[in-house]
Amino acid sequence: ARAYNAFNARIAKNQELRRSIEGSTRHIEIKLPEGVTYREGDHLGVLPRNRQSLVNRVLQRFQLNGNDYVILTKTGLSMAHLPLDQPVKLFELLSTNVELQEAATRAQLRELIATTDCPPHKKELEALLEEQAYHQQILKKRISMLDLLEQYEACEMTFERFLELLPPLKVRYYSISSSPTIQPKQPSITVSVVRGAAWSGKAEYRGVASNFLAETTVGDSIVMFISAQQSDFQLPTNPAIPIIMVGPGVGIAPFRGFLQARHMLKNKGEQLGEAILYFGCRNESDDIYVEELEHYEQEGIVKVYKAYSRKDGQSKEYVQHLMGQTERAQELIKVLDQNGHFYICGDGSKMAPDVERTLLMAYQVVHDVNESAAKQWLAGLKEQGRYAMDVWAG
Ligand code: FAD
Repeated sequence: ARAYNAFNARIAKNQELRRSIEGSTRHIEIKLPEGVTYREGDHLGVLPRNRQSLVNRVLQRFQLNGNDYVILTKTGLSMAHLPLDQPVKLFELLSTNVELQEAATRAQLRELIATTDCPPHKKELEALLEEQAYHQQILKKRISMLDLLEQYEACEMTFERFLELLPPLKVRYYSISSSPTIQPKQPSITVSVVRGAAWSGKAEYRGVASNFLAETTVGDSIVMFISAQQSDFQLPTNPAIPIIMVGPGVGIAPFRGFLQARHMLKNKGEQLGEAILYFGCRNESDDIYVEELEHYEQEGIVKVYKAYSRKDGQSKEYVQHLMGQTERAQELIKVLDQNGHFYICGDGSKMAPDVERTLLMAYQVVHDVNESAAKQWLAGLKEQGRYAMDVWAG
């Protein structure tokens, strides 16, 4: 927490945004302590806690009592993230310091093998080190060291060694979905809750931070910090400059902040340039911030194009498909030719590269140029800070 200048803040609101029972997206507002500020496009960093049932699995495997205190002393470099030389309650130690659900590493597997005497079990574990088996049985199924320890009860790894081998609990980032012009003291985040049948085939998988946040109630305290946006992911300083925002799913988060800011600017009598938002979700019952977006559209703050990927009786449609349609492609390029700014937020592994490809194609078609000219144009946009991304994988 010290490394991030993190502080405690209280949850002020935690609401479900989806109307369907399938999946969950939470709108969460946090009350900032005095003196803490933020800007549209910034991120909120959260130091999450492992859920109780997960910590209890560890305690049970090692026959430990979570209320007991331990004092850890340094034995190796990899312990820097653990609280050393002070009494710490076992339950707290496991809740706030280590990742318990990461796929087992090869180094962890080797230690499990070294501490397993039973020959058939040793053999089974050794087989998992083989390239293909490791990929198929461990990585793809996200089998953790804890899963293996539960499966191989005779393994005699000590709790101390288990702790040492675990990676530090990572900070998770969330794009702030409000504007300080409207919510200066109470920013919001929009969290897609990672929950579903575990790839291991065993029970349910729950992402650490999204579930931790989803389960908070008003008044709960969380440890967090504001991480200022380092890139060009900010509204243009001149509000008359047109903008295009592409943010399917929770990728809408920073754009909600942008729209709140534009709403305030309009109220102050500023002349606003055109704003277009490409949003996508599975179907209408999966849709989020519906009324707000409708209101902003009526006010002339934004024009919204929605793509539904699982609408009954309709073929799969993603934001990049909408962008590629002739009229929309022409509109996109026109806005960018008028010095407009382009923003993408959300999935960086598939959506963002697809959107970029669609944009390049649109430029080629509209201006009747080849791929290399389109690439040069895009590089120019990036250089001028007119093409900004806030994307992540997984
Ligand atoms: P984790 O505990 O980290 O688990 C996620 C991992 O589990 C992934 O590797 C995934 O592949 C794997 N997994 C998923 N399903 C299963 C399954 N069924 N079985 C086994 N494994 C599975 N998220 C938002 O919701 N809103 C935002 O605005 C937002 N903004 C972000 C901005 C930035 C700059 C970055 C880097 C990320 C952002 N994220 C956002 C993502 C967010 O930080 C977290 O990564 C996300 O909430 C998942 O974290 P978690 O702790 O809940 O899941």
